[in-house]
Amino acid sequence: MAQNRKKVLVLGAGYAGLQTVTKLQKQISADEAEITLINKNDYHYEATWLHEASAGTISYEDLLYPVKSVINEDKVNFVKAEVTKIDRNAKKVETDAGIFDFDILVVGLGFESETFGIKGMKDHAFQIENVLTSRNLARHIEDKFANYAASKEKDDRDLAILVGGAGFTGIEFLGELTDRIPELCNKYGVDQSKVKITCVEAAPKMLPMFSDDLVNHAVNYLENKGVEFKIATPIVACNENGFVVKVNDEEQQLEANTSVWAAGVRGSQLMEASFDGVKRGRIVNEQDLTIAGHDDIFVIGDCAAFIPAGEERPLPTTAQIAMQQGEHVAKNIKHILEGQPTQEFDYVDRGTVCSLGSNDGVGIVYGRDIIGKKAAFMKKVIDTRAVFKLGGIGLAFKKGKF
Ligand code: FAD
Ligand code: NAD
Repeated sequence: MAQNRKKVLVLGAGYAGLQTVTKLQKQISADEAEITLINKNDYHYEATWLHEASAGTISYEDLLYPVKSVINEDKVNFVKAEVTKIDRNAKKVETDAGIFDFDILVVGLGFESETFGIKGMKDHAFQIENVLTSRNLARHIEDKFANYAASKEKDDRDLAILVGGAGFTGIEFLGELTDRIPELCNKYGVDQSKVKITCVEAAPKMLPMFSDDLVNHAVNYLENKGVEFKIATPIVACNENGFVVKVNDEEQQLEANTSVWAAGVRGSQLMEASFDGVKRGRIVNEQDLTIAGHDDIFVIGDCAAFIPAGEERPLPTTAQIAMQQGEHVAKNIKHILEGQPTQEFDYVDRGTVCSLGSNDGVGIVYGRDIIGKKAAFMKKVIDTRAVFKLGGIGLAFKKGKF
């Protein structure tokens, strides 16, 4: 082994970090660099399927696969550890399993739920944030149905579910819920007409990036399945009885034994503690995905706020972007190792699909609106492609949605 191998440290085995490593391990020899990947779990999870595991239409175990199953351990050292501090100037990363130094750092620590300081939201609402939160939420919903069925004094709030936010996460979760509820009603002998699902959205329009046709299809589909929407209704608090919302300047209590916050995400809390100029856990990158003043630190995925050249607003936070950034960073690291200049990141937008359960959806693919079964099919293709890109054909057969 060469003595002067550069130390490449990658934080997070989500879409961004894992794509960086799986691409890099194909592009360089073990002599060129010492690559270490740190992740707090020994598994990668499909964050883009969390709404399914949260509703219980798939098991949380379906989201997971071992990180080691997709890395080449001759080239990559995988460490299961939680990162606690990034010292950018000393070029050291502290974790609960020791301190790691680096020559090149890739930060891909991903997203967390953002409750904007709304009173009681962290304590009383379920979040759709990671494998554990999804597992807990699906179990809680089922427990409430079981409790309703078993108790003599029926509490209708056991069958009431409040969903905060009609963004992509909220809508996709509602789609899965409407698939799941008939199964639960069957299993526990519950009259489905007693189930009450309410989605509360602060903005006057939902999914603003979609045309009216797409939005109307999504709303009609979900309303026909029993979802009630309360639009232009901000949630101002959450307590053990449900959400408190504001209507005409007056506070109202919406009652349910299940409240779900699906109304916002932020980048990792570690970002503010580690870098300057971070907003909601996201830092504006340079065009090559490094950060200002540090040409050896790349920040990608949901911790990045990448503003394409000539534009004003950062790209949204999506897995599609995280993976493209991971692929690009692998190439840029290769350039650095070869003493070549890094290249600018150029995002290719292939489109966006919002699922409505397993059999319906809405989306834009290569600039064209798609609706219904076509969109649902496309979403499964996208989900399977992501598995393939990280784990190859074997994993795609095992975990893909066929
Ligand atoms: P993450 O996927 O969050 O991965 C971060 C990794 O870092 C995780 O493995 C985490 O465990 C690890 N980590 C975090 N903190 C630490 C620490 N301190 N120490 C060690 N390890 C740590 N996007 C799409 O493009 N298409 C979709 O269909 C889509 N659907 C979605 C559905 C839902 C319900 C949600 C919530 C999001 C969806 N997204 C979708 C957005 C997408 O999931 C995110 O943009 C994507 O996960 C970001 O990837 P990432 O690698 O930056 O972070
Ligand atoms: P988001 O920020 O996109 O949407 C949150 C929604 O909650 C907004 O409509 C907002 O108006 C609403 N909201 C905020 N505060 C509220 C309040 N106090 N009361 C009521 N409503 C409130 O968040 P998201 O849906 O979690 O999406 C996060 C990111 O993940 C986005 O970039 C999204 O594109 C991506 N994502 C993509 C997909 C997909 O491509 N299919 C699926 C899920 C998430």
